[in-house]
This record gives sequence, structure tokens and C-alpha cells, in this order.
Amino acid sequence: MRVPDSRGYYGEFGGRFVPETLIPALLELERAYKEARRDPEFRKELLYYLSRYAGRPTPLYFAERLSDYLGFRVYLKREDLLHTGAHKINNTLGQILLARRMGKRRIIAETGAGQHGVATATVCARFGMKCVVYMGEEDMRRQELNVLRMRLLGAEVVPVKTGARTLKEATSQAIRDWVSNVRDTFYIIGSVVGPHPYPMMVRDFQSVIGEEVRRQFKKMTGRPYPDLLIACVGGGSNAMGLFYPFYRLRSVEMIGVEAKGEGFGLGKHSASLCRGKKGVLHGAMTMLLQDEDGQVVNAHSIAAGLDYPGVGPEHAFYKASGRARYVAVDDRSALKGLKLLSQLEGIIPAMESAHAVAYLSRLRRKLDRDKTVVLCLSGRGDKDMHIVQEHREDLI
Ligand SMILES: *Cc1c(COP(=O)(O)O)cnc(C)c1O
Repeated sequence: MRVPDSRGYYGEFGGRFVPETLIPALLELERAYKEARRDPEFRKELLYYLSRYAGRPTPLYFAERLSDYLGFRVYLKREDLLHTGAHKINNTLGQILLARRMGKRRIIAETGAGQHGVATATVCARFGMKCVVYMGEEDMRRQELNVLRMRLLGAEVVPVKTGARTLKEATSQAIRDWVSNVRDTFYIIGSVVGPHPYPMMVRDFQSVIGEEVRRQFKKMTGRPYPDLLIACVGGGSNAMGLFYPFYRLRSVEMIGVEAKGEGFGLGKHSASLCRGKKGVLHGAMTMLLQDEDGQVVNAHSIAAGLDYPGVGPEHAFYKASGRARYVAVDDRSALKGLKLLSQLEGIIPAMESAHAVAYLSRLRRKLDRDKTVVLCLSGRGDKDMHIVQEHREDLI
């Protein structure tokens, strides 16, 4: 089955649950995107910026000491080496080129930790577009440096003061802005979430990750495909970018790692696939963290980028159909993952990616020696040094 279908559904998930006034804008976006995707000029331009500006292709790196330690072969896809330090730039470059093609001059975005806000502010500066980023007031306090980065890049950061003042509220506010300014405004969504066509479009822009892995892995190993793919899942864009190009290759196993936070108590974690229920949030039917009354509850994770109560509808579909498996790793184990990769490979991963590393150590000595695993190292850890400082007794 090809997903999504023409209405934007991935099995029972996805769709377009938005106010009536946004439907024409989503249809216009879908039309423009499908045209752009087929246009060799657009593809050439995107490829140019991905390589010359962002630093693609990123290396696929055989992690020798980590592999010795784990007892199987691990390859890291080095998205941490990209401009702005994570995979998010793959998507913001794609969307800003599309915005320009559609003649939109004003860009809006939501951000939680600020990583997507920074990636959006970056491309807005590069293409001379006006940039407004919605961010919860609580997140602005916790992520002061990213607020400074965005402002330095010329973006306006708007504090959102409703509810828990975090990503969920910032996203709702960005959607409201879009409803009122839809004629001249392009909304750059930061993950494989939101109403159709966003989950599809963001997946396609991030698929450069998995497409490169396919070529690089074959060249490096002489084998056709890796045995296992593994990536952390917040909204799910770096994982989908790695998984999707392998979707049809049934022998390739996929594991998405969610954040178990402080445990599976209500409000203590972000594991929407492992522990959520079906519901609608931010324009899509998906798996969500909810209380008994169906209210969406706040998420928690030590990794700000995983701290979201929903997940992309395509992951919900992969889980329901059994194509991928989803597991959860808690804050404490993620810190161990951070330390492990830092000390065995000299690579300090983002706290988000450290969740995937931590899951690998659960597989230690449980796979055959010649098994090959590709892990998406979604970002670098520089942004997380305040967490290291907080936990230095455990880490240093
Ligand atoms: C934002 C972010 C994530 C989580 O987002 P996905 O859409 O799930 O990929 C993971 N890693 C890093 C480094 C991030 O900045």
C-alpha cells in the first residue's frame, strides 16, 4: 500500500483536521509541493543548498570502538555534522525554497526547545524572509540561548503564555496566526506532524538521510542493506527520514526510540507510541498522550526535542502495521548513552540521539557479531551542556 492516500491518510492515521479556512491553503500547498517535487530545477536548487550550505552528504561512519563494546557492527549517520547541528536544516531548506516558489514573503514556525526555530531563522536569514517564531514562555526561559540565536539571526520570537507555555501551545498559536495571515504567510512545520501534506512533505525532505545511507552502506560494506535501523522519535522526522527509503525492504528491521522520561506515570514521559491513545492533535489523527477524559497531557523528557505529546501519523501507521517497532528509554539511561558515545567514539551526541545510543546498549551481546546496525545521530550535544553540568556527578 502506498501512503499517504489522496486524502492524506496513513491507514487510520493522518488526515486534515483543521478549521475550514485552512483547507484551501493546504490544498494550494499540496499542489505546489507536488509540482516542485517533479521540477528538476527545484530539485537541483535544493540539492545545491543541502550540499554547499548545509554540508551534505553527511558521513556514514563505522563506529569501531562502540561496535567492539556492543558485539555487533554499528554505523552512525552523522547528521550532527550539519550546519546548525542537526537534521532539522534538511526540512527547513526544503520548505523555504517551496515558500519562495509560492511567492510567500512571511514565514512562521513553532518551536519547543528552539532547535526548529533556529533552523527556520537560519534559512529565513539566508533567503531574506521575514520570520516569526512562536515559543512557549516556559521554553523561552529554559532555552535562553536558542532565543538569543534566533533573535541574532533576525527572527521575531513571540512568547506564548497559554496553558503550560510549551510546544503544544506554541503550535496552536502558530496555527491561529496561519489562519489569519494565510495569503502571504508560509508555515514551516518542524517534524512529520500536522495536517496533510506536512507529514508527507517533511518525510520526503528528510528522506535524503536514508537515501544517502543506502548508497553509502552498500559502498562501504559490499552488502545490500543493513539489518537494523534505529533512531530517536520525537515528532519522528529524523527516524522517518532514515526509515522511509527502506520501507519496502522487508528484511530491514526498524526501531524507533521514544523518551520514557522519569517513568511511565502520567505527565512523566513522551512515549506517545508506546503508551498513547488514538486522537486528534494539531491537525492529524495520531497517537497521543491523554488522560482518562481524553485531554492531551504534557510530555516530559530530559531531551527537549523529544518533549511532545504527539507523534507523526506515519509512525502510528508503521506501529499498527508492525513495520517498525517502538521502544522507550528513560532520562537516566539516555545520560548513560551520552557518556558511552562521548567516551568510546569522541562524539558528543544530542540528548535526543543519546536515547537511541542507550537502546543499543540494551542489545549488547544479544545480536550476532556480523549484524549491521545504522543509527541516526540526529544532532550534536553542544546545546545540551547545561544538562551535563546538572548531572556532572553521574557523568564525570
Ligand atoms: C528536534 C530534534 C529531534 C526530534 O525530532 P524528530 O522530528 O523526532 O526527528 C531529535 N534530535 C535532535 C537533535 C533534534 O534537534
